[in-house]
Amino acid sequence: MKKKMGGAGLYLVLILLLVTAIKVFNPPAATIPTKNFTQFVTEIQSDNLKSIKFDGANATFITKDEKTYETVLPEEARVNFYNNYLKEKVDQKELQVVGTPMKETPIYMEWIPNILILGVFIFFWYYLIKQSQGGSKMNSFGKSKAKVVKQDDKNLISFKDVAGLQEEKEELGEIVDFLKSPKKFINMGARIPKGVLLVGPPGTGKTYLSKAVAGEAKVPFFIMSGSDFVEMFVGVGASRVRDLFETAKKNAPCIIFIDEIDAVGRKRGAGLGGGHDEREQTLNQLLVEMDGFGTNEGVIVMAATNRADILDPALLRPGRFDRTIYVGVPDVKGREQILGVHSKNKKLASDVDLKYIARRTPGFTPADLENLMNEAALLAARRNENKIFMEDIEEAEIKVQAGPAKKSRVVSEEERKLTAVHEAGHAVVSTCLSNADPVHMITIIPRGMAGGFTAYTPEEDTSFITKGQMKDRIVSLLGGRVAEALVLDDISTGASNDIERATHIARAMVTKYGMSEKIGTITFGSDEGEIFVGRDLGRSKDYSEHTASEIDKEVGNIINEAYEKAKTLLSENMEKLLAVSDALLEKETLDKHDFEKIMKGEDIEHDKEYAHDEKIEDKDLSEEAKKIVEEKSSKENKDLEDK
Ligand code: ADP
Ligand code: ZN
Repeated sequence: MKKKMGGAGLYLVLILLLVTAIKVFNPPAATIPTKNFTQFVTEIQSDNLKSIKFDGANATFITKDEKTYETVLPEEARVNFYNNYLKEKVDQKELQVVGTPMKETPIYMEWIPNILILGVFIFFWYYLIKQSQGGSKMNSFGKSKAKVVKQDDKNLISFKDVAGLQEEKEELGEIVDFLKSPKKFINMGARIPKGVLLVGPPGTGKTYLSKAVAGEAKVPFFIMSGSDFVEMFVGVGASRVRDLFETAKKNAPCIIFIDEIDAVGRKRGAGLGGGHDEREQTLNQLLVEMDGFGTNEGVIVMAATNRADILDPALLRPGRFDRTIYVGVPDVKGREQILGVHSKNKKLASDVDLKYIARRTPGFTPADLENLMNEAALLAARRNENKIFMEDIEEAEIKVQAGPAKKSRVVSEEERKLTAVHEAGHAVVSTCLSNADPVHMITIIPRGMAGGFTAYTPEEDTSFITKGQMKDRIVSLLGGRVAEALVLDDISTGASNDIERATHIARAMVTKYGMSEKIGTITFGSDEGEIFVGRDLGRSKDYSEHTASEIDKEVGNIINEAYEKAKTLLSENMEKLLAVSDALLEKETLDKHDFEKIMKGEDIEHDKEYAHDEKIEDKDLSEEAKKIVEEKSSKENKDLEDK
């Protein structure tokens, strides 16, 4: 608006300049004498004039003695000038009048811009009011952005596509039955749940499961994310909720799926600095809608979250989300089935063992597993293979686990040595421990954030871990750092994640699992998920400062003990540690077989063409490591002599 005014102003100035220029350069040929208005009127009244020519406020008049004059009519005189002074004389043909002194633009024309501006204001005002009330038909802001997933035969998923989750499927079976034939249930007077809350970490198949319910029942599926409700415009959320439910009711029976419901359904008044009004309005509207639509309208609301603990309790009351289904990370059997589902339309080579892959991927969510099979297929395609081989899957696995390999990253020699010794440290220490998982692969190719990577094959999924296992876990985590310090007398930042994890385990042993003799079998603090700012700020510790320092001491003891153990083990196995480090420097990646060979003291295959010729040399070694190596070799010599 302001800009336009500026533009118009500029044009005005330009036009004025032009006009003055024209006036200056083209002066009128002859100037006509002027008379003032009073004189003009007097002339008219004394019948002295022959003709008058009006040009707006300017009048040129000729007297009866053929003299021409000019005059300017004052603004207020123009309106009824003709009627007051001239009409009679013109009618009597005593005076000739050309033009009119009346304004060309009538008064109301001046009002038009004002009226327009007023109109615009009223429009906006009306629009905003409508917005906050919602349900406006003239705009699309209030419309829900729900995506309708049409269940045609091609992308129809049903329960048979959902691997594992047997109990969950059984629980949802009732809802499927209801959606299929609501009449039956209505006649029985049964109360069907309105809302089902699916709780679980991301990628565990909450959306997938809901879609399968819709597919199984062959009903429309409306999907919307909680964050779509909450937007810039105040009041949009509430109106979107209303709109979504209106649409759903028209399409009943159907399923509404709200992803990330925590975006709207967080505990009211839990945010910092007071509640978020917009969110609260949206949540209230959601509650109203869920209360409002009758049980038998055939709309089932399914919602997903990974934070059930931060949801407003009002949402979980009967008649709202009164069913909660936990969807967890799948176990080994579930993983195998999920791999089966996602390799259905992929060609697998005969060496592919899904059971083995499932065993190697604890903690993978269904989304990760789907991604894994997809990556494997991509790799196979890139290699122009016509089938997916085990090798492709194994490479894909590492990619999914730790980000794509960065072969191109330039790594200095120093860094390579440090990483090799670090990873060798992890691997060697864990093979010396009775409770650690076997090493599956070691690599010093940087992946994602990690400089290197040691992968283990867990023997089996266990639902609990023993104290011995946890202690060994800490020892093998610290193995990397210990090896760096012991062999190279230099430590890197690469171990920070290991140390963090080790500390976390040690702390959990003391405060959560009651595994410390000194502290006792007590749980300290409530460690329910990570801290949520709004909720936990005011949380008080349920133990004293004294206990806190005791806990810290005990955690420190566990870590120190583990550190010493790792150091002893690595000192005893120094030559193996160096052999593994050298092999890593040479080949970058060692598989299980190579690693086992080295640990047995056997030689591995060397590929001259691709091998790096770096080695950990004597000059790299720390004093301590040198001493250990020397002692070992002299002892071996002595043993030989003794024989
Ligand atoms: P969430 O909604 O929990 O974040 P999704 O429902 O988006 O997770 O699941 C991600 C992907 O994982 C889905 O696209 C699906 O292919 C796969 N998936 C999830 N659960 C299963 C399952 N039980 N069986 C097979 N595939 C699954
Ligand atoms: Zn490490």
